[in-house]
Formats: sequence, structure tokens, C-alpha cells
Amino acid sequence: MPQLPADLPELLEQVRADVAGRVGAGKVADYIPALASVPGDRFGMAVATVDGRLHGVGDWRERFSIQSISKVFGLALTLGLDGDLLWQRVGREPSGGPFNSLVQLEHEKGVPRNPFINAGALVVTDRLLSVTGDATGAVLELLRGETGEPGLGVDSLVAESEAAHGDLNAALGYFISAHGNMDNPVRSVLAHYFRQCAISMSCGELAWAALFLARHGSLHDGRRLLSEVQAKRVNAVMLTCGAYDAAGEFAYRVGLPGKSGVGGGILAVVPRLCTVCVWSPGLDEQGNSIAGVAALERFADLTGSSVF
Ligand code: GLU
Repeated sequence: MPQLPADLPELLEQVRADVAGRVGAGKVADYIPALASVPGDRFGMAVATVDGRLHGVGDWRERFSIQSISKVFGLALTLGLDGDLLWQRVGREPSGGPFNSLVQLEHEKGVPRNPFINAGALVVTDRLLSVTGDATGAVLELLRGETGEPGLGVDSLVAESEAAHGDLNAALGYFISAHGNMDNPVRSVLAHYFRQCAISMSCGELAWAALFLARHGSLHDGRRLLSEVQAKRVNAVMLTCGAYDAAGEFAYRVGLPGKSGVGGGILAVVPRLCTVCVWSPGLDEQGNSIAGVAALERFADLTGSSVF
């Protein structure tokens, strides 16, 4: 089993120096105006360990739009509260296509390929809404509880921008509904989905909040959100489906379960050891942070912590 160095801050400084040339590369997400204005030169990285350490470098305390990283927490909560029935409504194969693609849904009769593309996350949100009555509230409660930050919340400007430019997600939702794979009104599911994407968190908060995935499903106070097997499964789906249509490339370079978001964040898990979150808004063609992937690759190589 890999060991983290005692001097984590020094390791993080080294990673930052090694990837400095990549910060600012790529394109900041511009599919909604509220994200297009985020400065591209930011870089933050944080590591939270199962033995209770939290260290960061750069802009690791600055909050950003977590976007698709929210899909990890929505999935974990739904599995934890509702068990494995969800897998009858959503698959777990990499999509190999863009995160907002309609094409596969048509072939697969409204059953999305996996929970981390938008279509799959809409189905997860639908189920979480049925189970809790407030999908966004449930995700926020989990995040606030694990971080101890009661002020964590939704950036309403981003949420409104998502809704105003959300026709493609709406199309996905209505398509799924037309195939009978949606229990709630599509507009409610969309509203919750947009609000979850618009949650703002820092690298430090995200790393801390996701530690249950490195702890076999146990929350910070010892309560269990997921069984060991469920935690393994969430990590496996992150590894195979967490980086859009570059999940293979991410596994090849980083070798850790990870989930990226178009806000430029990537959350990665080293089972039994730690979580790592990196943020840098410049994205590659597939929507993954260029400096973020480079930093996680460097971290995994320097620490020998790839699951492979
Ligand atoms: N809010 C984005 C969308 O639904 C999320 C995209 C992402 O981070 O993958 O289009």
C-alpha cells in the first residue's frame, strides 16, 4: 500500500511547480455566461487523508462551481439511501461520447449509459428527489455535514444561467421521461440538477467531503453512507466513467478513480489513503482541466498511489 510523505505541503508545492506551465492552457467553459467569466489562471490543489490531515496549495481555499463533481455525491446518496435498484434505470458503462449526448439515449430506450453523463445524472436526481423530497437539499446536507461548513450552498447566478441555457439537458430529461424512466415532473428534476451543478466549493472542502469514498463508505462520524461494496462500485464507476469521453486517457495517465466538472475541478480518490481535489479552469476538448489532469498524474507518480 502506498504511503503519503510526511511533508505533504512540500509534495504539493512540487506538483504545483511541475505543472505551472499548464495553468492557463485550454479554454474556460463558456456554455453559460456565468462560468465564462471565471479567470483561467487559477490553480488550487488539496489532499485530505483518512488519518485526518488536510493540506493545500495555491487557490485551494477559493470556491468554484463544482458542476459534474456533484454527480458523485448524488449517486452516493441515492445508493446509500435507496440501495441498488437504481441500476435498473441507469447503466455503468463508459459512454465514449460527450457528456450531454442524446444519441445513445435513443439507442438504449431512455436508459442512460452511466450516472456521470448528464442523462444518467438526471435519472439519479429523479430517484433522489423521490426518496428525499429535496434532492439538492439532501446533497447539501451531506456536503455541509462532512465539511462542517454550514454556509456551503448554491451559486444562484450559476443556477439561473444553467436553467436559462439548459435546453439540451431539458431535451435529455423529456426523452428519458418519454421512455418511462422518470417519476417526477421533468422540470422539477431539471431544477434540482441545475442547482446541484451550481454548488460552490473549494478544493479543500471537496477533498474533505469525499473522504468517505477513501474510507469504504464511512462518514466522518463513523456512520456508514455506503457499504464497502457500494463504495467500491462508486469508485469503479468514477474510474471508468468520470472523465467524460477521456475516461480511458485519465485512467492511463492518473490511474485513480476521478470525477471532473466543467468548472475545472477534478476530484480523485486513493482508496484507504486520501482524496485529492484540484482546480484549474482551463479545459481540454473533452472538458477536463488541463492543469488538473497533469497535477493528478504528477501526484499519482510521485506518491506511487495509482490503484494500478
Ligand atoms: N451543468 C453542466 C451541464 O449540465 C454540467 C457539465 C459538467 O460539468 O459535466 O451541462
